[in-house]
Amino acid sequence: MASYAKLLEGYKAFRSQYLSQENSAWLSEAKEGQSPKVMIIACSDSRVNPAIITRASLGDIFVVNNVANLVPPYHESGNTHHSTSAAIEFAVIHLKVEHIVIMGHSGCGGIRALMADHDNPKPENPEPAKHYSFIRPWMQIVDDAAVFTDQEKAAADIESRAKICEQRASLISLKNLVTFPWVKEAMTQDRLKIHAWHYDIGEGRLLEYNETSEEFKELT
Ligand SMILES: [Zn+2]
Repeated sequence: MASYAKLLEGYKAFRSQYLSQENSAWLSEAKEGQSPKVMIIACSDSRVNPAIITRASLGDIFVVNNVANLVPPYHESGNTHHSTSAAIEFAVIHLKVEHIVIMGHSGCGGIRALMADHDNPKPENPEPAKHYSFIRPWMQIVDDAAVFTDQEKAAADIESRAKICEQRASLISLKNLVTFPWVKEAMTQDRLKIHAWHYDIGEGRLLEYNETSEEFKELT
């Protein structure tokens, strides 16, 4: 895994190769502003980097990283510190992105924390709960994703249930996106499409939600 020193070495290569050889025109173009066509809302997880996974270049993706790649529902009040909502507003109204992708992934720590809360809602030892004082209320946005039917509980092992929960959480975020009036308007006018992806870390594969079949299917 990369140490801090390795990142500094990477920066040298970025200066000498990426900028100098591969993208020499980039700096002068970038100075004029950005016009990405795609926004991706991804988890903060170090193993899920949308730019690396899609081989994107600087300027291609407007990215939000937060715990478990969540979108909160729209609130008219501006009194909250909604960094994700602010980013969505900037991307849709000002940058006029054409796609927004919610990018979930396997082995998501935020989703595991949510599932643990459901399995054990009142921990006997309150001490560990203190360490989730911000994560817990944040994960409440997708609380319904961790409600399993008896059939799901009986049939699915923990890994499978986590995958179900991760994918459901992305679909809740997708629904929440449409609660933002200007997102809905852009979609109605066919200027914006929204997508849910699920990245399998162990396999290195991306799945996309298919609205017709109501399933996540591998992107080919
Ligand atoms: Zn995650």
